[in-house]
Amino acid sequence: MSYQSLHSSVLVLNSSLVAVDIASVKRAFCLLFKAVAQVVDVSDGSFEFHGFESWREVSEFKWENGLVDNDSEWVSTVSYEIEVPRVIRLLTYDKYPESHVSLNRRNLFARDEKTCQYCGCELPMSELSIDHVIPLSMGGKTTWENVVCACTECNKKKGSMTPQIAGMKLIRRPGEPLRNPQIKLKLRRKKYYSWKHFLNDAYWSVELQ
Ligand SMILES: [Zn+2]
Repeated sequence: MSYQSLHSSVLVLNSSLVAVDIASVKRAFCLLFKAVAQVVDVSDGSFEFHGFESWREVSEFKWENGLVDNDSEWVSTVSYEIEVPRVIRLLTYDKYPESHVSLNRRNLFARDEKTCQYCGCELPMSELSIDHVIPLSMGGKTTWENVVCACTECNKKKGSMTPQIAGMKLIRRPGEPLRNPQIKLKLRRKKYYSWKHFLNDAYWSVELQ
């Protein structure tokens, strides 16, 4: 299969249809092919489940009958075209999502919506840096409450000072996001609208046993 043009993401549900992860298209197809996952096809508010073969047949039918949706994406193989699923369900995995969102560069930039938390400019990830609000040199920790995205200019201006000393103001108070912040960025795009069925707050605020 060719995946070059595919940078999309697939929402992964557990066996009880609770969102637990986001996978690459390649990984999603691997899971389907190994029959450990099914496609969850959302149309008009109802769900249909398909194994790999069944999904291939549905795709073929759509492709041959001109029923291809504008927002859909397709993968070409040597012998057939198959639609990229937006949501899959793991058949035997019944655990719930991690209760804490891991603090890493990608999640941090997503939480702050790739926006400098001092001047408010939006930048590509490559041009953003991480700022410790209370600098490490003053005993600040690397926690959700103490790190923010900053543009190079603001980061330089702030140096190893607190915002107060540097005369700068945070546009909002940093904290741990309630769920994987990358989802918020994805949901802005029409192709991920089907994810909304599985992402209401009840799923993400469920008390873990
Ligand atoms: Zn800035």
